[in-house]
Amino acid sequence: MSDFLLEVEDLEVHFRSSSSVAKAVNGVSFTLNKKETLGIVGESGSGKSVTATALLRLIPNPPGKIAGGRILFEGKDILALSEKEMRSIRGNEISMIFQDPMTSLNPVFTVGNQIIESIRTHRKVSKKEAKKAAIEMLQLVGIPEAEKRMDMYPHEFSGGMRQRVMIAIALACNPKLLIADEPTTALDVTVQAQILDLMRHLQDTIDTSIIMITHDLGVVWEMCDQVIVMYAGNTVESGDVKTIFDRPLHPYTWGLLDSQITSDSENEEKLSTIPGTPPDLREPIPGCHFADRCPYAQEVCFSKKPELIEVEEGHTVSCHFQTKEKRLKRKEKAYHG
Ligand code: SF4
Repeated sequence: MSDFLLEVEDLEVHFRSSSSVAKAVNGVSFTLNKKETLGIVGESGSGKSVTATALLRLIPNPPGKIAGGRILFEGKDILALSEKEMRSIRGNEISMIFQDPMTSLNPVFTVGNQIIESIRTHRKVSKKEAKKAAIEMLQLVGIPEAEKRMDMYPHEFSGGMRQRVMIAIALACNPKLLIADEPTTALDVTVQAQILDLMRHLQDTIDTSIIMITHDLGVVWEMCDQVIVMYAGNTVESGDVKTIFDRPLHPYTWGLLDSQITSDSENEEKLSTIPGTPPDLREPIPGCHFADRCPYAQEVCFSKKPELIEVEEGHTVSCHFQTKEKRLKRKEKAYHG
């Protein structure tokens, strides 16, 4: 059996309308080791959340469909499992935390009930044992007076506390893989830092692997071992976090890095935005998907799609001008400030 916890090969997800097909994920591949954290970054519509949803086979069908590829979880072919087998994996071996806990928590049930329900769905334990485990889980995610708070409803918690409850539910069955989809986007910076600290602590305690979906490279730097940069359904660059921050090679990654807000005011002055918008994925795109927005684009970029190639060990990039032999140089302030 493979040593990887998760192997994704050539994943394709399509969304069909009466007149067109949008290729939301277009041949994405990656692997995840046990206890590792992988960051998937990109703008809205890059395909990062669709990729994560596909791992749990939760793509709404119709209009969506996993159109190709393989997803192996501990060697098991996720796409070949029955719906019953998938239900025993979801929330148990693979859990997901969503961006907005208010829409994921049920407002008419107490948080205690929701954690107990999650535990009893996957583990054969009595209600009393599940309640004890739920209280321990709330304590583990740093909710004070956990026993008392079990009887409270989601609206009685602050945003940060609700996200902690979501994490408690997601981790209630000690999942081997936790998928966190923009888990801190709706939170203020201080609470965001607390939630990231908590996730790191829990990862050490429970030995969970994490896939972190985010548009925030600061979160990637803080949390991740490996990074995939996605644009318009494609992986445009991947590597370990240090490589991607020290030696980014794709012009889209440069744009993302240039548009990050940092605490360094000198950098804030240089803050740039990537001009334009991502392409319409319902239309055929013969060349590089980033060509319309790329300040380095040449004629070939509009007619030929660049391959994703390994330019150094473990570092892949998809750009006609970044290969083992030739390198494009990053310009100062290439994007619109
Ligand atoms: Fe830019 Fe061309 Fe490279 Fe695409 S292939 S990123 S358009 S330079």
